[in-house]
Amino acid sequence: MSTDMEIIPLESWLPSKGFPLIIAGPCSAESEAQMLQTAREIACIPQVKFFRAGIWKPRTRPGDFEGVGERGFRWLQKVKKLTGLKTTIEVANPQHVELALKYGIDMLWIGARTVVNPFAVQEIASALHNVDIPVMVKNPVNPDLKLWIGALERFSGTGIRRIIAIHRGFHYFENSPFRNAPMWEIPFELKRLFPDLPVIVDPSHICGRRELLEEISQKALDLEMDGIMIETHFDPENAWTDASQQIKPSDLLGMLNRLVIRKRTGTVDFENKLEELRTEIDKLDGELLQILSKRMEVIDAIGEYKSRNHITILQMKRWAGIISDRLSIGTNLGLNKIFLKHLLQLIHKESIKRQTDIITKKK
Ligand code: PEP
Ligand code: MN
Repeated sequence: MSTDMEIIPLESWLPSKGFPLIIAGPCSAESEAQMLQTAREIACIPQVKFFRAGIWKPRTRPGDFEGVGERGFRWLQKVKKLTGLKTTIEVANPQHVELALKYGIDMLWIGARTVVNPFAVQEIASALHNVDIPVMVKNPVNPDLKLWIGALERFSGTGIRRIIAIHRGFHYFENSPFRNAPMWEIPFELKRLFPDLPVIVDPSHICGRRELLEEISQKALDLEMDGIMIETHFDPENAWTDASQQIKPSDLLGMLNRLVIRKRTGTVDFENKLEELRTEIDKLDGELLQILSKRMEVIDAIGEYKSRNHITILQMKRWAGIISDRLSIGTNLGLNKIFLKHLLQLIHKESIKRQTDIITKKK
């Protein structure tokens, strides 16, 4: 996988004191009055540097409100003139890009539904050839890191150097309190592969409900994410889109003031203690892997034994017993039940695979 994206560090091009990057504004541009009132209130929040609004909205069904289109740009221009806030919108095709550039939008973002389609992403990227504008790329709807990276690379490949990834959560079938499950391991891996790439978080689309925003925003900062984008509306309950996740500017101000921005590196003592704890983790992981390997050796022995005696591999009764027994031991040890279930299923899957391999080799 290519790791040579050339990226200008966020701190060097953000408006002064712009780190972490805070973006606020309504899900959708609805009317001039809604935009100006929301922007005036947001402008009183010193941490906010960019004003967001959706001019075109990707809606699941036709007939839902699909955005105000081109006339929204005049409102954004007024917002900028009135408040000094920089502006950012979602673009989903080359025509959107052309209009955004014509009306002087300061930064673009690519939405989650667009990022799933490499043709669409390439068309947008090509429309930005030789254009120097920052571009934010949301993760695709589905938890596919390669697709996210691919989209980032398409913009990098076209010459965009001010790139930001936006983590907005992933569609997930199992029960979750979130509209889009955060699956933090995915943005972590992105950061590991591209250490220079700024990653900000969109708690609004992760949470889906305003009550959860503060918890996810704090988590984002604690996990060294580089900023947050929060949907903000002067009258959230009556917003035309995403009403349950938007907050009032006054609530955003309260939340931002409560958020703790921790230092990224500490004193020598702190670093030493951290190193000590990390060494312990390395040792424990080593032991965990040894035990897992021993368990697989025993599984192989069982496979051989079953195969010699012509017994089926999967014995459902035994498996159900294992699950309930291990869940009770594990939860008593303070482990999370859902995590345990996933872990046990994974181990079981691998065990069955090894036994099947043994039997097919014998045939
Ligand atoms: C949005 O930011 O309003 C939006 C449509 O988000 P997403 O692409 O993450 O669904
Ligand atoms: Mn929205």
